[in-house]
Order: sequence, then structure tokens, then C-alpha cells
Amino acid sequence: MKLFETIKKMGHEQIFFCHDEESDLKAIIAIHDTSLGPAMGATRLWPFASEEKALQDALRLSRGMTYKAACLNIPIGGGKGVIIANPENKTDKLLRAYGRFVQKLNGRFITGQDVNLSVEDVRTIRSETNYVVGVSEKGGGPAPVTARGVFLGIKAATEFCLRTQELDGLKVAVQGLGNVGKNLCHYLHEHGVKLFVSDLNRENTEYIKHLYGATVVEPNEIYCLDVDVFAPCALGGVLNSATIPHIKAPIIAGAANNQLEDEQIDSMLLESKGILYCPDYVINAGGLINVYNEMIGYDEENAWRQLKNIYNTLMEIFIRAKQEELTTHEASKRLAHDHILRAKKLRECVAK
Ligand code: NAD
Repeated sequence: MKLFETIKKMGHEQIFFCHDEESDLKAIIAIHDTSLGPAMGATRLWPFASEEKALQDALRLSRGMTYKAACLNIPIGGGKGVIIANPENKTDKLLRAYGRFVQKLNGRFITGQDVNLSVEDVRTIRSETNYVVGVSEKGGGPAPVTARGVFLGIKAATEFCLRTQELDGLKVAVQGLGNVGKNLCHYLHEHGVKLFVSDLNRENTEYIKHLYGATVVEPNEIYCLDVDVFAPCALGGVLNSATIPHIKAPIIAGAANNQLEDEQIDSMLLESKGILYCPDYVINAGGLINVYNEMIGYDEENAWRQLKNIYNTLMEIFIRAKQEELTTHEASKRLAHDHILRAKKLRECVAK
């Protein structure tokens, strides 16, 4: 990878390579854009196949955080931390060493919990730094808020695409019934939606079938259903050249991160099939709204009010995409860039 060429193209400000001899820590902290505020991004621990793959992950995910916050007008920037390690080799010493690096950035980077780190691990990191979010009891965890945001996103999409304000009687296929998926099923059922669900874990599907009378389908069948909305709430990369041809739902609106396997190709493919895709980093921004509110002093009413922005922002993206003949993916990127540019101009005016 030509490092400076890559970060110039992607728009990153700074990359930190962190090494600690004693704990054998190898970590990368990527700071994408701090025009709107300090860079925030959770830290994941993963046995990356190569250092280049770890760097790519940090670069891509930190840029995603910038876009997410910018689209929703949340005054923070985009960052991401990756620790290159096997989860079996995760030690307190390693986590504390990482925490000391975060502390050295003095608030320029604020982090939290992601893949292979538990809330307990994040508390260990916090023992060395003040710049950690998502460990407080006050927010009640991000998943219910994320699910509520996805629910509001589904409302925006059905209103725009199906011209209906009522969800009653609509059919929604939910892939993945973990922390977010099960909460989403609750909100949808409350509004009279007929649920179709899949999960690799049979206990999860039986639970949702029992609670909400959902129809359970095999994991590979979920794409092919004749439903109004497909809600991916499991893994990334599920929208690709193998799955998209089977999708009959006119709307895709779910919580999973990085749903498009190839952002450019797959967003065009969805567009060509007339499918309305809700950009994942916008519709799943409830988690970020939750941690941001924890950072500024949690006020539930405030957090739930900000969630409504997910509905408004998605509407803005749908309208812009239609007017400018763009994919919704491209329209959301342009919206984020507009908000960042406006913030930069405002700062220049204040400095003059
Ligand atoms: P989770 O780990 O609690 O749940 C994921 C569920 O998906 C599990 O039940 C798992 O068995 C199931 N699953 C895995 N592979 C599957 C497959 N092929 N088919 C069907 N089911 C499958 O995760 P979560 O917290 O509910 O998050 C779900 C997604 O939303 C993730 O992509 C996550 O990155 C994203 N997200 C979550 C939050 C949050 O607040 N938790 C915020 C933003 C984005």
C-alpha cells in the first residue's frame, strides 16, 4: 500500500502505530477527520492476516465514523482503533498498554467497545485513560437505541417508497436476532408488522417465534422472500453479486455495518433493481447517538429526540438521490461532505 497516497485519497488526518515491548501490543489508531469534533471510534481486537489488512480496516472504519457523525450532524469526528492480536492472547497488560496510548492522544481520540472486546475489557482500558465511552450504566447499552433508529429508518423508507405511513400489515424479513435484531422485532411487532426471521442460533429464532408469531426461515432463504423490507442485522458484506439478484424486497433497511460487499458495484446493482437501500451508517447511527449522549451527560429524552434525525436524514438522502440521479450510498456521502465543508467554513469565519 502506498500509505500517503492512500490516506490522501481517503482524507485521513493522522495514523498512529502503537507498539509496547512488554505486553507485545501492536495497534493502529486512525484519525480520519476532526472538523466536527474529536475523533470517536470503537476499538476492535482481531488476528488480522497481515498488518496491511489491519490498517485497511482502521482506515475504512474511521472514515465510516466521520460520515456517520457528519450525516447526523453529531459534533464528533471519525476514528478507529485496531489491536492486532489473537483473542486468546488478550491480557490486562496489553489492554492497559493500549489505554496509555489512547491517553497520550489527550482527547483527540475517544474509544469504546467493538469486536472481541467486552465491556470489562473496555473498563480495563479505561483504568489508563479518560477517553473511553460506552461503559456507563446510564445509556442502557446501545442496542435498543440502535434498533429504535432502524425502526424509524424503516418508517422513512416505507413512506418514501411505498407511500404509506402505516406499517400495519407490512412484511419485514429480519436477518440476525441478536441484541439489535430482537429489539427491532419488538418495535415492528408493536406496529402490526408480519415478521420473517432467520438466525444461525435456533434459540433466538424460537424465542422470537414464541413472542411475536414470527415465521422462521433458513438463513439462506431470508434473501428470497416476497416481503416489503429486508433488514440485515447480522453480518457485513451480505449485499453482494450473489445475494442481490435474489432480493425481492423493494427496501433494504437494517443495522449491520458494511452491508455492501463492494460499495460502488453493489449500490449500483441495488439501484438498477429499483431497490431503495438505506445507507447502513445512517440507519444504524443510534449506537453513536447513545454513546455521544453518554459523553455529554446522558439525558434519555435528548437521545430519543436526536434519534428522530435518522428519519429526517434518510428522507433527505432519498430525495437528493432521486433529484440528482445518484445511488443513496453516493447521496449520503455527499451529504456528509457538505456538512463537513460547512463546519470548516464556519471555523474559518470564526478564526478571522
Ligand atoms: P449480535 O452479535 O448481538 O447479533 C448478531 C446475530 O446475528 C447473532 O444472533 C448471530 O447468531 C446472527 N447471525 C450471524 N450470522 C448470521 C447469518 N448468516 N444469518 C442469520 N443470522 C446470523 O450483534 P448486534 O449487536 O445485534 O449487531 C448486529 C449488527 O448491527 C452488527 O453488524 C453490528 O456491527 C451492527 N451494529 C450494532 C450496533 C449496536 O448497537 N449493537 C450499532 C451499530 C451497528
